[in-house]
Amino acid sequence: MSRIGVFICHCGENIGRTVDCARVAQSLGDLPGVVHSVDYKYMCSDPGQVLIKQAIQEKNLDGIVVGACSPHMHEKTFRKAAASAGLNPFLCEMANLREHCSWIHEDRELATEKAIALGRFIVEKIKYNRPLSTIYIPVERRALVIGGGIAGIQAALDIADGGRDVILVEKESSIGGHMSQLSETFPTLDCSQCILTPRMVEVAQHPRIKLLAYSEVESVDGYIGNFQVKIRRKARSVDETKCNGCGECQKNCPNKKIPSEFDQGLGTRTAIYVPFPQAVPNIPVIDRASCALFRGRAKGVKKVVCGKCAEVCGRNAVDFDQQDSFVTEKVGAIVVATGYQLYSIGKSQELDILRGYGEYGYGTIPDVIDGLQFERLASASGPTGGKILRPSDGKEPKKIVFLQCIGSRDPAKGIEYCSKICCMYVAKHTMLYHHKVHDGKAVVFYMDIRAGGKGYDEFVRRAIEESHALYLRGRVSRLSRDGDVIRVQGFDTLSGEPVVINADMVVLATAMRPQPGIAALAQKLSVSYDQHGFLNEAHPKLRPVETNTAGVFLAGACQSPRDIPDSVAMASATASKVLGLFSKELLEREPLIARVDRMTCTGCFHCERVCPYGAVERKTLTDSKGRIIKVIAEVNQGVCQGCGTCQATCPSKSVELDGFTDEQIYAAVNAI
Ligand SMILES: Cc1cc2nc3c(=O)[nH]c(=O)nc-3n(C[C@H](O)[C@H](O)[C@H](O)COP(=O)(O)OP(=O)(O)OC[C@H]3O[C@@H](n4cnc5c(N)ncnc54)[C@H](O)[C@@H]3O)c2cc1C
Repeated sequence: MSRIGVFICHCGENIGRTVDCARVAQSLGDLPGVVHSVDYKYMCSDPGQVLIKQAIQEKNLDGIVVGACSPHMHEKTFRKAAASAGLNPFLCEMANLREHCSWIHEDRELATEKAIALGRFIVEKIKYNRPLSTIYIPVERRALVIGGGIAGIQAALDIADGGRDVILVEKESSIGGHMSQLSETFPTLDCSQCILTPRMVEVAQHPRIKLLAYSEVESVDGYIGNFQVKIRRKARSVDETKCNGCGECQKNCPNKKIPSEFDQGLGTRTAIYVPFPQAVPNIPVIDRASCALFRGRAKGVKKVVCGKCAEVCGRNAVDFDQQDSFVTEKVGAIVVATGYQLYSIGKSQELDILRGYGEYGYGTIPDVIDGLQFERLASASGPTGGKILRPSDGKEPKKIVFLQCIGSRDPAKGIEYCSKICCMYVAKHTMLYHHKVHDGKAVVFYMDIRAGGKGYDEFVRRAIEESHALYLRGRVSRLSRDGDVIRVQGFDTLSGEPVVINADMVVLATAMRPQPGIAALAQKLSVSYDQHGFLNEAHPKLRPVETNTAGVFLAGACQSPRDIPDSVAMASATASKVLGLFSKELLEREPLIARVDRMTCTGCFHCERVCPYGAVERKTLTDSKGRIIKVIAEVNQGVCQGCGTCQATCPSKSVELDGFTDEQIYAAVNAI
């Protein structure tokens, strides 16, 4: 390559403030092979791109280097500009002068020198670039949605309404997620079930949605447009094709005292049960750990101990011998909408963390509950029929203390993030409490109020006015039981005074955490997650619903704490991405992928072992008579993400990564 053009961007003042861009352009212009070198205020702007296009055509450039921001930001922009001027887009490279230079240095002289070195690096590299062609791969236009909370429901409905088939996999026996447990929802205070259940029914009846409840993803193979997903259908012990949801089995189950997960342990259920009356699908499941028959079987008891449910089932739907089964589905895109969990009583893993909050009496004082438990008490379909009553004695609490930020914003306990929704739902709780217990008094301990959303601050103010709640800024240091009351000892940081409140009930706004098991699922999907376990988006600003694995998208609270409006908006955004992907018959892929040299590959398959994407396949080479010559590695173009791990590992140097060949890397390194 001998006619290279260099274009240095000031990025407004982002680069220009710290780097002498004119000097960088001049210096790089003196390099052998560079025939054109200029600087400009905003290279990504329309006039900036015109400048590049004109130079390519007028100076007959055969390669261009743009010194600007990160390639993540604008590589596509500049490659497109190059292509429109007739240059192969892969003969355009970027030097990152912003993130790698101006943003991290203060000394203008040194930063300018470094910018020149970075430019030189890319100029020498591009001399070895080859024109590459876009890869086209076929796409299976069906989507998999994992998780049937409001985010998964919304994504599934939007994709299905857009004319594409969806498989919705939910691990519990019903869809609905946490929203189905809520009483009324901020900011409008409408009844959660009233807005959710019609959507759940829509999912069940939609001709384009296949609902696989009580199922989990077992394994995922393949790549964007062509995933093969193995799904485990857990044994319900009830035949879905026969059951009509009459409920006789539940009515007749003798074991009625099992704490209900749906009611957060405040109500009870039977061993064969649907989690709540509006469940979709309305088909019961047998909790084998609680069912007398299964417990008997586990102990080796030969005689059938119970079997009442099977006796009363008029359709012969109860099947004690049902086993887990597996289905494999081919899909082109995957939406992860697995939501969140709360630190909550009754889940051992969380209890361990909450023992870190022993000062709050969690799990030891029965009238210290969490936010979701309060939701169940306030819900008309809850264990108390919507009455706010104490779990310990069923009395109406006349004073409730709400504590915010339990587990959130507490770096000492390992969770430094804000759970985002608690300020809002605590305000809602004070209002619900006031609506139900008119003479009740609510006290809220808060660190500060974060109510950033349309109408949210107004909602909090309305709640304070309506409920007459006393908001105290400060932390509570200890809760202890004093006879019938809970002594709440804290500190009001505004008055500078210690406070002691005798409460009848305490509600902890505990942190929102990712679902248990999310790391295992993330590994199956090759999706990264942050230190807390929330799944990572590809780019927080520009690609908020995509992941770094092409074809896998995110919706709802699996990505970070989110309320319902946010989760729904994100789900619809995800659906539009999926529909966009499915709008083409063939997918375009960047050709910056690994290639194996068949002649030199020795078939050691180190590359296969290290490839994080499972892109390396074994290929048997035969002669004209069909005899095996050797088995070598081959890279699946659809799966390879161009990470280069195989190239770095190959002992015979048989793997090369287009765009990052050894030749290019040596030339670039030698240049600096
Ligand atoms: C006390 C409290 C009160 C709240 N009040 C409000 C309110 O008033 N207004 C508001 O806007 N928001 C409120 N929220 C927030 C609301 O609950 C969430 O915004 C919403 O539930 C997020 O929906 P989601 O679908 O992302 O997650 P979830 O509701 O958690 O649903 C996730 C679904 O995925 C399933 N799942 C998980 N893992 C897997 C897997 N591996 N395979 C298959 N399925 C899986 C789960 O079983 C679940 O059904 C409140 C939250 C709390 C804790």
